[in-house]
Amino acid sequence: MPSQKPKIAIVGAGIGGLTLWHALRARGLDADLFEQAHELAEIGAAVALSANATRELGRLGLLDAVVAASTEPTELVYRDGRSGARIAAHPMRLGGAYRQRFGAPYCGVHRADLQRALSAGVAPDRLHLGRRLVGLDEREGAVTLTFADGGSVSADVVIAADGVRSVARRHVVGDDGLLYSGTSGFRGIVPIDRLPSLPDPQAIQFWMGPSAHLLHYAIGGDAGHVNFLAVVEAPRAWPHAERGLAPSSAAEALAFFEGWHPAVTEMIAAVAHEARWGLFLAHPLPRWRRGRVALLGDAAHAMLPHHGQGANTTIEDAVTVAELFAAQDGDVNGALAAYEALRRPRTRAIQRASWAGNRALHLPDGATAARDALIAAFPEQFGWIHAFDALAAAKAPLRSAARSATR
Ligand SMILES: Cc1cc2nc3c(=O)[nH]c(=O)nc-3n(C[C@H](O)[C@H](O)[C@H](O)COP(=O)(O)OP(=O)(O)OC[C@H]3O[C@@H](n4cnc5c(N)ncnc54)[C@H](O)[C@@H]3O)c2cc1C
Repeated sequence: MPSQKPKIAIVGAGIGGLTLWHALRARGLDADLFEQAHELAEIGAAVALSANATRELGRLGLLDAVVAASTEPTELVYRDGRSGARIAAHPMRLGGAYRQRFGAPYCGVHRADLQRALSAGVAPDRLHLGRRLVGLDEREGAVTLTFADGGSVSADVVIAADGVRSVARRHVVGDDGLLYSGTSGFRGIVPIDRLPSLPDPQAIQFWMGPSAHLLHYAIGGDAGHVNFLAVVEAPRAWPHAERGLAPSSAAEALAFFEGWHPAVTEMIAAVAHEARWGLFLAHPLPRWRRGRVALLGDAAHAMLPHHGQGANTTIEDAVTVAELFAAQDGDVNGALAAYEALRRPRTRAIQRASWAGNRALHLPDGATAARDALIAAFPEQFGWIHAFDALAAAKAPLRSAARSATR
């Protein structure tokens, strides 16, 4: 088996690409990161990181910076969107319940803070900004990456973490592989002192109603702001196939939530909503790799945000690829085959659960008794998502291969 280190190119310096860079470096492997943006600047939104990702960030020495900029939610609360009644509540920071159960924290963090933490320490000569991938071509064991600026580079292997509208996905599966969910979202970040009607402002809360829901959680080291995502079952068809954002307004957003609890309407009214987000997911792809090009993160398994797992599963992917590259000692094809076999079933199961979660959150009035029972059991039912240890899972097939080799 070859033992030379492969020349690795990562496309996209988002959550997946940056985590992968660190995970490779931690294992003595270098990679070049090619990012289309001219600077790394993430604006206007936050992300919730669960234990399946924070345990990996801890192993990479990146967690302290994330925790310092985060709020750990007190509880996970489900409420009726109109009356505000608490339908179910599960302790998280309270009594240390979440950390005790999963061994790592749950963090609400601004994306700019997360990006700062992930990009710190990336070698400047390995980060190539302003390089938008437009083409991939593989010949005789090498892949050529072509960029919009007309330049090209060659690598032994390409990991494409180029997000939900991945160019590399077209190369791997032959089409754009994206499906519009029939739902769209209004997002915003609001200072807590502008939300006088909000009960439990440091909890992560779902406000549920017919055909819509709103999710929010506090962010920042001082829990000074609330990040929210309001999801509605409209428009039926997305008008701009090539774009994830469409122009909108606060009036349009508020119209979906007429008659809802003031905590919900205050939050939505606090933001201008110049745009709404179409919620897209990747079709279950027939494959994640073609030759020496593999997809990672949203490029491979973009999912609905209802379990808050897009970024978390992306971080799991990154650790898995890095561990397999290191363990396979230069056998790129073996590492990529193992990566695909390990990651597809888990991410597919979470994609499915996220789709089902949307239905449970949007039931019409009068059909909610079964939903309420379901929601009361959510932490038990979906504990497998948070309990997952990606590094241990990546090491498991290697351990069993080693055992059979010594038999
Ligand atoms: C409304 C909403 C709320 C969400 N909330 C959560 C949450 O709470 N928790 C959670 O886990 N996930 C959440 N997600 C999902 C999460 O944002 C994504 O799953 C995650 O960012 C995926 O990481 P990635 O690295 O694959 O892609 P990204 O983080 O999107 O990074 C892709 C990078 O590739 C670059 N790029 C794209 N094309 C090219 C190209 N051709 N050449 C070079 N560079 C390129 C981009 O500029 C970008 O930097 C949410 C998503 C949405 C839409």
